[in-house]
Amino acid sequence: MPCEIKEKERVGVINPIFTCQPCGAQYASIGIKDCIGIVHGGQGCVMFVRLLFSQHFKESFELASSSVHEEGAVLGACKRVEEGIDVLLMRYPHVKVIPIISTCLTEIIGDDIDGVARKLNEGLLKEKYAGREVHIIPIHTPSFVGSMISGYDVAVRDFVKYFAKKDKPNGKINLLTGWVNPGDVTALKHLLSEMKIDATVLFEIESFDSPLMPDGNHTSHGNTTIADLTGTADAMGTIALNRYEGGKAAEFLEKEFNVPAVIGPAPIGIRNTDTFLQNLKKMTGKPIPESLVVERGLAIDAITDVTHLFLADKKVAIYGSPDLVIGLAEFCLDLEMKPMVLLLGDDNPNYVNDPRIKALQERVDYKMEIITNADFWELEDRIKNKELELDLILGHSKGRFISIDYNIPMLRVGFPTYDRAGMYRNPVVGYAGAMWLAEQMANTLFTDMEHKHKKEWILNVW
Ligand code: SF4
Repeated sequence: MPCEIKEKERVGVINPIFTCQPCGAQYASIGIKDCIGIVHGGQGCVMFVRLLFSQHFKESFELASSSVHEEGAVLGACKRVEEGIDVLLMRYPHVKVIPIISTCLTEIIGDDIDGVARKLNEGLLKEKYAGREVHIIPIHTPSFVGSMISGYDVAVRDFVKYFAKKDKPNGKINLLTGWVNPGDVTALKHLLSEMKIDATVLFEIESFDSPLMPDGNHTSHGNTTIADLTGTADAMGTIALNRYEGGKAAEFLEKEFNVPAVIGPAPIGIRNTDTFLQNLKKMTGKPIPESLVVERGLAIDAITDVTHLFLADKKVAIYGSPDLVIGLAEFCLDLEMKPMVLLLGDDNPNYVNDPRIKALQERVDYKMEIITNADFWELEDRIKNKELELDLILGHSKGRFISIDYNIPMLRVGFPTYDRAGMYRNPVVGYAGAMWLAEQMANTLFTDMEHKHKKEWILNVW
């Protein structure tokens, strides 16, 4: 088979693509309104993650830490969580949801965060905060398992599991967006609105692109409410756009409450957006309106302008979160490009059986590699020592030095992207996202043609 999926054959990681599970749980938690997560571990488990969020969105976020020190690391630090939650409740009167997010350290020492939640529910909340709505939710995210991607998936499932409650049908659909950008949420809401579909967009982070108001508001939070989460059990169906970032919650709702689930594909590219709209149509019975057919046509027209002349046969490396990478690879193939290496930064055993990866393997007729548990050295080594020639790199900012050192043009996509302005505002999903991606890839190549004097005269006559 010309397309192989294989695990990195080296022990250790040189320049990781992903960070750890608690990061994903923290991302899910900031998507909920009136929620501040407390991360049970060393302070850096919050400090660096919060910095990543702030760098990517250029916004400020609130996250707490139990800040475990030496004594707690040896003798247990449950007391610090208990005290931390009390401080949070005193300091923030609006807070209603507090996930306790475990880390490598506190999972290893065996701190019982489920016991802490029970104890606080029976004690502190009844005694000191009687009458106040507070939900304390233990979320287990040891960093020696999975990655930030699985941490997000686990946290989303655990929040839904905690709140979902059957009442009466609400006529809505649940939309689990996965780990996307504000621009993606806006684009998805636009598609839903054109189809006149009432949806609960879960872990909704559109306001992470927030205005600076005269009152000096300086923090961002998500828009998903407790009522939204509770109502997930009453929906007519769930669409989880990303298999690995929300798929678990969709499966839970189907199993527990018979809410039918459609998992993936992320609507990246024309083909996947078509599938998304068809899935919406099947689930709700609502037709796809002419306005979206026009949008599709505009995108195809724009894409046609750049595909054959500039994008065809261009060799690409793609890294980042699996649903994004697979979606981008599928789109690149549709654009006649050649994804050469796909790098997935964790060792999820399910990748091997992912139907979309299998479909990719069947589709390509040239040598393509899909590396799991990958790091940036896997990419650099191939460029430096194994004669991998690339025209373009697609991925987040952590890989920027490979682009710089080897003079390969790069389009920033994914999380975190902090070295280009405003990238979080541009959608990669939907027809608008397909158009943006194709045009930005072309523009990136144009700049490279000019700098390297590679047939740049074509741009005069195009
Ligand atoms: S690897 Fe462990 S110590 Fe480091 S940030 Fe992740 S959870 Fe915290």
